Amino acid sequence: MLHPQTRAVHAGRPASPASGRPLSTPVHQSSAFAFDSADALARAMAGPEGEFVYSRRGNPTVAALEAAVAGLEGGAAALATGSGMGAISAVLLSLLRPGDHVVAQRCLYGGTHAVLRDLQERFGVEVDRISGDDPAELAGVLLPETRLLLLETIANPTAQVPDLPGLMTVAGEAGVVSVVDNSLASPVLCRPIEFGADIVVHSATKYLAGHSDVIGGVVVFADRELHGEVWQRAVELGSTAAPIAAWLTLRGIQTLPLRMRQHCENAGLLAGRLSGHPEVTAVRWPLLPHHPSHETARRVLSGGGGMLSFDLAGGREAGRRFVESVRVAQLALSLGGVETLVAHPASTSHRELDAAELRAAGIGEGTVRIAVGIEHPQDLWSDIENALKLS
Ligand SMILES: *Cc1c(COP(=O)(O)O)cnc(C)c1O
Repeated sequence: MLHPQTRAVHAGRPASPASGRPLSTPVHQSSAFAFDSADALARAMAGPEGEFVYSRRGNPTVAALEAAVAGLEGGAAALATGSGMGAISAVLLSLLRPGDHVVAQRCLYGGTHAVLRDLQERFGVEVDRISGDDPAELAGVLLPETRLLLLETIANPTAQVPDLPGLMTVAGEAGVVSVVDNSLASPVLCRPIEFGADIVVHSATKYLAGHSDVIGGVVVFADRELHGEVWQRAVELGSTAAPIAAWLTLRGIQTLPLRMRQHCENAGLLAGRLSGHPEVTAVRWPLLPHHPSHETARRVLSGGGGMLSFDLAGGREAGRRFVESVRVAQLALSLGGVETLVAHPASTSHRELDAAELRAAGIGEGTVRIAVGIEHPQDLWSDIENALKLS
């Protein structure tokens, strides 16, 4: 008989896979996996396709998430990461070398800008920025050293939709790897690989997980070769996902199409009503007929998404009062969850910028962003209407 000290350590470990097929993917909360033979363990260590060895390299729950997102995006393989920034950094740090040239859309997520600036200043990567509206503009800045094109399906908070098919055709002909951050559209509204993307990245924190309870990311690859390269670097960086975060994201994905339908319906309704409100000078949502990306959005997206922004005639003070006056919506800096969130960039995330700098970032002093949730639209409109009265 083993001592209690030893039995306590080994008690509860399954001797063999559990019988029966659980409907819900189990959380394989295990850092490592046991083998019967040294040869089998050595074989499993060969690469991303091997058996599970150690959870930084791969884990069954994480693999289930990777398969689910790869399937939804129409990719060959995926890599789940600890955050959306983990996904973006793993891709950029894996594929770029000193002297490489990157072309990036001007309006990108702030964290992505920060990584590009670091790569530029510390690692000698050159970066050119384009509007994303014109494939000829991309053709004009391509260099023999151009390695990556970096785009977002729906930019934040301008709701700009770049010409993904046109831009990625130019990139493909030049042998440039196209990377698209599809966090705001989700694979329900857009599958960039169908338009020629080589890599799609997600902040799974947003719509994929959808319940404001997890930080996560996913990278999807159109082919397996790039997957192997980025997987190897992600294992070195240690940016791979935790099983419980992967499980929460998988659970969220089960209702993704249903949630997206309601996000889009609510946002469309609010965008229309805000457009007719006397205190509102501009509304940005991709499927509004006057939005500059309207034509592209109709070609690229199957819905307008849940994010909209609008400008208040009362400027900075009105924006601040609005976000402090809503009751159903919450003042918080995220998006993609079931609950409606509001933000006023000029008094929070961008408070260091003056009016001219804000304008350059596509933000006005009275710009408010709404990440529209899945509540009943009438309750949301009443809340917004009331906050507009108070601002
Ligand atoms: C939030 C976000 C990110 C960063 O994701 P995290 O999960 O917060 O690391 C990247 N891109 C876009 C478009 C985002 O909205």
